[in-house]
Amino acid sequence: MSVRTRPAPRLLAKTVRRRPDLERSARCRETELRGFLTMAGHDLGSPLTVIAAHLRQLREDNGSLLGAQAHRDLDVMERAVRRMDRLVENLLAHARADQSELRARAVSLADLVAEVTAERLTTDDGSQVTTHGSLPDVHADPDLLRHVIDNLIGNALKYKRPGAVAQVDISARVAPGDAVRVEVADHGIGIPEADRPKVFEAFHRSANSGSYQGTGLGLAICRRIVERHGGRIGVEPHPGGGSRFWFTLPRQPR
Ligand code: ADP
Repeated sequence: MSVRTRPAPRLLAKTVRRRPDLERSARCRETELRGFLTMAGHDLGSPLTVIAAHLRQLREDNGSLLGAQAHRDLDVMERAVRRMDRLVENLLAHARADQSELRARAVSLADLVAEVTAERLTTDDGSQVTTHGSLPDVHADPDLLRHVIDNLIGNALKYKRPGAVAQVDISARVAPGDAVRVEVADHGIGIPEADRPKVFEAFHRSANSGSYQGTGLGLAICRRIVERHGGRIGVEPHPGGGSRFWFTLPRQPR
């Protein structure tokens, strides 16, 4: 009995001839999928807004008539609606990360980080975001870049160790190839080694994060945005414990 480990030359030639067809059909499927995500996002989003508004109204109009159990039930429903709303928002952001036109220009990383930090640190729980050294300007689409920074800072604040205060350190430096390498480090729960390469795939959540809320889409969106700018993104263990996410972006137009 013979075991064939390589495709026969004729089969290989046929596959090579069919490659443009296969690529075209993969592109079509991707476009279809993105269209579906956009449609699903919009179609799921509007009934959710209606449900949230009616739940609010119900509480306002009948709050004094409802018992403790009814209030608890309303809490559960409102939390579920908020969770669903976040998922829909993420699905739309996922589709937008691919579809929206890239409007790259000189962007002040320092201003963007300061704005996102101010928006993120609204509760007085002692969380800290510290910038080390000066942050250079980059050549990027400001709206898409804001999404990346917001996601990485948001995760660094969210995945803190139980009972600990979140501490996030941000720095950037010019890297080879006239790129800027940005690092966002935390002292949180860290990411198990086996999960590290997978956290940038859509819907992958690492084994130790089950008790934290999330959709598993944020980093997939970040990767898409960074790659559209010609950069790379990754994560490594933070020497002080926790995770250190990094990404690169061009410093100037290429
Ligand atoms: P989400 O946080 O909504 O689940 P993300 O795509 O942003 O989705 O992250 C994917 C997964 O990567 C998370 O579910 C979590 O398991 C892990 N992760 C991301 N950021 C961190 C972090 N700073 N510390 C520890 N784990 C993280």
